[in-house]
Amino acid sequence: QKAEWAKLRNEATVTADGKHFELAANIGTPKDLTGVLDNGAEAIGLYRTEFLYMDSAELPTEDDQFEAYKAVIEGMNGKPVVVRTMDIGGDKHLPYLPLPEEMNPFLGYRAIRISLDRQDIFRTQLRALLRASAFGHLRIMFPMIATLQEFRQAKAILLEEEEKLVAAGVKVGKFEVGIMIEIPAAAVLADQFAKEVDFFSIGTNDLIQYSMAADRGNEHVSYLYQPYNPSILRLVKHVIESAHKEGKWAGMCGEAAGDPIMVPLLVGLGLDEFSMSATSVLKVRSLMKRLDTKEMAKLAEKAVTESLTNDDNIKLVKDNVK
Ligand code: PEP
Ligand code: MG
Repeated sequence: QKAEWAKLRNEATVTADGKHFELAANIGTPKDLTGVLDNGAEAIGLYRTEFLYMDSAELPTEDDQFEAYKAVIEGMNGKPVVVRTMDIGGDKHLPYLPLPEEMNPFLGYRAIRISLDRQDIFRTQLRALLRASAFGHLRIMFPMIATLQEFRQAKAILLEEEEKLVAAGVKVGKFEVGIMIEIPAAAVLADQFAKEVDFFSIGTNDLIQYSMAADRGNEHVSYLYQPYNPSILRLVKHVIESAHKEGKWAGMCGEAAGDPIMVPLLVGLGLDEFSMSATSVLKVRSLMKRLDTKEMAKLAEKAVTESLTNDDNIKLVKDNVK
C-alpha cells in the first residue's frame, strides 16, 4: 500500500469524477518542511507558530521570526502557506511570559485574546510575517476568534503595520487574511464573517471541545470527541456554505481533516482545503481518488439530516465507502 501511495507524491488531488481538492500539511517548525515536500503536500494549511515562542528562552525577535517564516514560505516555492499567529495559553505556556492562574485555561486568556492585549508581541509577529510575505504565497490566520470585533481589530492592526513598513520602503507581498473557526459562536456567525475574511480554516480539535463542553485532554470525557456527530457536521456545513456564498474558501486543519471516516463527508460537504499531518497526505490522496463527489454529497446530506448519532455516521460511511 505504501508503494502505491508513493506513486501519488507528485500527482494532483482529484476525485474519481475529476474534482480537485487542496491537500495541505500542518507544521510546527521550519524543520517539518522536509516531511511536507517528501509527502507531496500542495500547501501548508497550518503553521503553528507558538512553537517558535515555546522553543525560545525569551520572546523571539522580529528578525528571528522573519527568518523562520521566510524559510517556510520560500521553501514552499510559491505554494500557499497558512501561518497562524501565536496560540499561547490553554495548555501551552511560556516560562518568560507568566499568565494568570485560571480555573478554566481553555476558556481563558489565550491566542488572539493575548495578542490583542499584548500588542507589542502581536505587532512584532505581524511585521515579521509581512516582511516574509515578499517571498512567496502567504495566508495569515488568527486563532480563537469569537467575535467580529476581534477580527476587525486584529486585521486593522495588521494593516497598520503593513502601512508603516511600506512607508519605510520595506517590501511587502500580497497576502490573504483568514480566521480559524474553532469557537461555536464564530461557526454560527460564519455567514457574517465570510463577508470580511478571505478564508476560514475549521479547527475541529477545539470546535468539538467547545461544542460538546468536553475538555480535549480529559480521558473521562473523551467519548464526547465526536467529529461525526450531526451537530458538528451541521456547523461544518454552515461554515462551508457561508464561505462559498461570498466566494471565499473553507479549509480544515483539525485532526478530523485527515481522518478516513471524515474525509468522504467533507468531500460531500464541499470543503476546499484539507490540512493534516504530513504523513497522512498520501493516504488521503489515495482515498479521494476513489470518491465521487455527487455520491458523497448525498451521503453527507444523510449524515447531517437523518443520522442521530456519531456512531450512525461511522456506520454510514463504512457501509458506503470501500
Ligand atoms: C484545532 O483547534 O483544531 C487546531 C487545529 O488548533 P490546535 O490543535 O493548535 O488548537
Ligand atoms: Mg485550536
